[in-house]
Amino acid sequence: MLQVEGLRAGYGPLEILHGVSLEVPAGSLVALLGANGAGKTTLMRTLLGLLPARSGRILFAGQEVERASVERRVRLGLGLVPEGRELFPSLSVRENLLMGAFTRRGRAAIEADIERVLTCFPRLKERLALPAASLSGGESQMLAIGRALMSRPRLLLIDELSQGLAPAIVESVLAVLVRLNRDEGLTILLVEQNARKALKVASLAYVLQSGSIVLQGRPDDLAASPAIQHLYLGGE
Ligand code: ATP
Repeated sequence: MLQVEGLRAGYGPLEILHGVSLEVPAGSLVALLGANGAGKTTLMRTLLGLLPARSGRILFAGQEVERASVERRVRLGLGLVPEGRELFPSLSVRENLLMGAFTRRGRAAIEADIERVLTCFPRLKERLALPAASLSGGESQMLAIGRALMSRPRLLLIDELSQGLAPAIVESVLAVLVRLNRDEGLTILLVEQNARKALKVASLAYVLQSGSIVLQGRPDDLAASPAIQHLYLGGE
């Protein structure tokens, strides 16, 4: 579904990603782990096209997209749940969801997808007419995921799912994502600081450190690796 080869990107004179290569197979749930400042957000932004790739390739759904506009990548099926959610605070929950459908036409299908999102996240149903600013942290994350689902992505990029959320909320949101992955075949690339939770649900994992992939493999193998234990699992 997604193949990244030798991707370099950064800000001004600063190179942050030093040739990142990774693969997200169709139907998989892949975890991307890494400490603060490793470059995870930079990678997500470069994949979507918010930040230009300086070199390297991004193959998505069989097409080279590293020079394509954000809109083209969204139309091809890339969806991003950004770090910090980036909702439109004064717009209602429903209007935020509609914003996610900006590349689409067809009212009936869009309405059906709003229903689908509300089935995934019933808490949003009662809040549909309220401004996004009135939502709790967990509800905001649900809305950010729902908004991304409105573009009908084939690959959902999720940046820092658990940031600022209570553990119970993280579990319930993760359960929805696992269901979408398993039952609807949604491919997911999950960026997480909480390695333990991410490794539990992923089928493949990568570790990004200082802008390079330093480890990759099956979650069980990674969880057992001394480096991961030491760095990300608190030595347990
Ligand atoms: P975090 O979990 O803290 O978000 P991250 O792994 O997502 O970490 P990035 O946000 O990608 O890391 O940041 C990687 C590096 O790029 C950091 O050193 C950061 O200071 C730098 N950086 C991020 N955004 C910018 C920017 N707009 N201009 C300059 N440097 C930036």
